[in-house]
Amino acid sequence: MRGIPIQARSSRGCRRVRSGRRVAVYTAYFRGHDGTMIALQAHAACLLAACIAVPASAAPGPKTGAADAVRAIIDREFPSLFDLYRHFHAHPELSLCEEKSSGRLADELREAGCEVTTGVGGHGVVALLRNGEGPTVLVRADMDALPVKEQTGLPYASTVVTRDDSGREVPVMHACGHDVHMTALVGTARLFKQLRERWRGTLVFIGQPAEERVAGARAMLADGLFTRFPRPEYCLALHVGTEAPAGSVVATAGFAMAGSDAVEITIRGVGGHGAFPHKARDPIVLAAQMILSLQTIVSREIPPGDAAVVTVGSIHGGTKANIIPDEVKLQLTLRSYTDEVRRKILDAIGRITRGLAAAAGVPEDRMPVVQLGPQSTGPTYNDPELTRRLAAAWASWLGNDRVVAGKPVMGAEDFGEYGRTEHKIPICMFWIGALAPEAFRAEGPAPPSSLHSPQFAPVPEPTIKTGITAMAAAILELMAAGPLEATSRIPNLSPMGASERPGPLDLSQ
Ligand SMILES: [Zn+2]
Ligand SMILES: [Zn+2]
Repeated sequence: MRGIPIQARSSRGCRRVRSGRRVAVYTAYFRGHDGTMIALQAHAACLLAACIAVPASAAPGPKTGAADAVRAIIDREFPSLFDLYRHFHAHPELSLCEEKSSGRLADELREAGCEVTTGVGGHGVVALLRNGEGPTVLVRADMDALPVKEQTGLPYASTVVTRDDSGREVPVMHACGHDVHMTALVGTARLFKQLRERWRGTLVFIGQPAEERVAGARAMLADGLFTRFPRPEYCLALHVGTEAPAGSVVATAGFAMAGSDAVEITIRGVGGHGAFPHKARDPIVLAAQMILSLQTIVSREIPPGDAAVVTVGSIHGGTKANIIPDEVKLQLTLRSYTDEVRRKILDAIGRITRGLAAAAGVPEDRMPVVQLGPQSTGPTYNDPELTRRLAAAWASWLGNDRVVAGKPVMGAEDFGEYGRTEHKIPICMFWIGALAPEAFRAEGPAPPSSLHSPQFAPVPEPTIKTGITAMAAAILELMAAGPLEATSRIPNLSPMGASERPGPLDLSQ
């Protein structure tokens, strides 16, 4: 989806949310790239970015004089940032193995005038840029890559092959754009070192490990990110995206990305000869029943207005056609937006698997074992007020047509963890377009590739420059020295209440 809403037609209704109160539901209409109209229905909070009251005359440009200075510095720094990007791109490292990436990132941030601490929560990097009294703002870049064989044909494509946890040889690629994120972080640090007279406070730049395992944010927090270092008043992050062309920013206020859980189910039966099934309890037949029954959780147990996903992504059991095995293993990914829905899904999995095993006559001591894996994370909740404020700043800096309202998606991220601590810090993660505008035209060459694809190839210059510019606009909106000239009018829409902000994730069974 792309484009900004051409009208927020007043097809407005109500529905009840888990708190029991009723919230307004709006329908906004977007023009899709093929010219058709797309209706988007969401809570008021989800449409905040879509409904920003940017003055119609707002044009990209320096309302504060800062934009010109920012542009000049970014243009000057870009050649060396492009070298750095190519280096990161050609040397990807898997999650929890980001030793060289974090080392290079630390060196670059030190060079940019930051006080740098390494080894925070594994390979995490914390770099402070102090500039007197003022707010503290955290800016995060993730550093890890994926076991994907790059097929972009780029001259700086990765040819790295390494071993994963299980000892298997795997190719490695920055297929999620974390190389762009690290480069933009260094660019932002260099920029703010040179812009000292325009801001006040402390910038906390972090290089986070293991995002792809949704483990790095929790590891850095557990290692004292908010206690050993200045605690931020706001946390910001950008991520490359494929929903809008390079040069655009996509923002979603309120819930933006889902919470994710990995679950492993061990279905235990009683093994035996394939020709004597009556003497066994067949876990393969049981697995088939369970996979289908698990699909009724979303379709029959979760309220239709609540988003949820239950996917069985792997099934392993048996060795030979004429043997009934002892057990079958299933691996699932679950997605949800609220703790209540998450709990319902987990409870239903336990009930369904146990009930079907009992119906099949599995002995009590061979009941299924359901384990919640370590790769769990809560939803990413973008503070509506903060997101709306930043979106207005981006519209002012980049132009209205380059700020796009995003929809909540069922993908997951662990950036949300920074907003889920006891400190309840407002956070905002936004997307920056990474693909060439031609790919979005109806007559364009090919549909845009997605994140994690072996063909994922951001167009470096507009992507990196827009990333740094958008982050600079956000930071200056929060930390500018002296009053900013009014560049943004904040609409009088009531955001989703603070009570909706999720608390810490319950990792117990
Ligand atoms: Zn990813
Ligand atoms: Zn990513």
